[in-house]
Amino acid sequence: MDVQHITTDGKTTATVDSLLRATPYPVILLNVTQQLTAWNAPARDLFALTGDTQPNLADLPGGDRLVQWLSGTQDTVEWALSEEIRYRPYVEPIGDREQPLGWVMLLRDMTERQRLVRSQAEYIRLISHDLRTPLTSVVGFASMLQQLLIGDELAQPRHFVNKIISGLNVLTGLLENIQDAGRFDPETGFYEMSRTMCDPGEIVQRIIKNYPMPADKPDLRVRVTIDDDVPVFAADTNMLERAVSNLFDNAVKYTPNGSAIDVHVQRSGDEVIIAVRDSGLGIPPEDQQRLFQRHTRVARKEFKKIKGTGLGLFIVRSVAQHHGGRAWVESESGQGSCFYLALPVVTRPTRQD
Ligand code: ADP
Repeated sequence: MDVQHITTDGKTTATVDSLLRATPYPVILLNVTQQLTAWNAPARDLFALTGDTQPNLADLPGGDRLVQWLSGTQDTVEWALSEEIRYRPYVEPIGDREQPLGWVMLLRDMTERQRLVRSQAEYIRLISHDLRTPLTSVVGFASMLQQLLIGDELAQPRHFVNKIISGLNVLTGLLENIQDAGRFDPETGFYEMSRTMCDPGEIVQRIIKNYPMPADKPDLRVRVTIDDDVPVFAADTNMLERAVSNLFDNAVKYTPNGSAIDVHVQRSGDEVIIAVRDSGLGIPPEDQQRLFQRHTRVARKEFKKIKGTGLGLFIVRSVAQHHGGRAWVESESGQGSCFYLALPVVTRPTRQD
């Protein structure tokens, strides 16, 4: 028999039996002691339930995590039965919410979705990679052309080439962000990070030194402070560079010419904290949290002309999460913003490159 009868309230309901039969996802019914009292065919197959016994939830393969999830101590949205097979549990109490007679647990199969997300990320990665190759060569030739255009009589073509180059720089930045967003997707776990020993102060200084300041912001004042006790630590250099570049890029983008940007690298307890403070327009409190979500941009008339994908801060937060760290912002409208990236001081590299 595919469906055991519901025993929690002593009644057998044919309707519920049919419902259980109809759903393609595994469904189990638990009594108040978390013992399985009924299940449908997909659940029987998934957990190899024989029907001879009524096991406890904790006795099922991977059941301990489901128990944690049921008691609310596990907030992971996905439960992996194996590397490939993933389910998302949904739980509903039976009867009174405060004093339930048991629970219905439905496990939604996420395996196929996971595969789709992965292939989508792979597709994005391939396309952005293929676009970068010709772009790099166009940037190279445009830069060579720029060097040939010297003298007053060539001022106009030089001006055009400068415009082309700054447009190409924007394009390159956008492509890098799209590429990174595919690699850093926490849902796919697509990107395998590699920690090597690196000096966060050196990374920050290098990025700022090489940053192509836009021609319309000649009077931005940038100050970098690296505290003496900032340690060399094990982090994914590439990820760290991307995060810092995005934070600095935003500070430049969203700060008017003539204002100041302060970058501070410090150690605080077991963390290295990189703070990028600007004196721009600031961010209203209601927008501060969602900025870190993928593709989120704040609609403000002052920012209308500023190009972006809404991926920069998503990347910053993903980098923080991959390192077991944090990213957040403190800001008041009109008072500028300070973005923080805090990474734990890990001393052991994961892989020697
Ligand atoms: P993008 O800059 O490509 O739009 P981000 O994820 O980097 O994407 O930023 C998301 C949004 O957060 C931006 O559109 C902007 O509205 C806001 N933002 C980011 N950095 C700052 C900053 N330093 N000052 C004010 N607003 C900012």
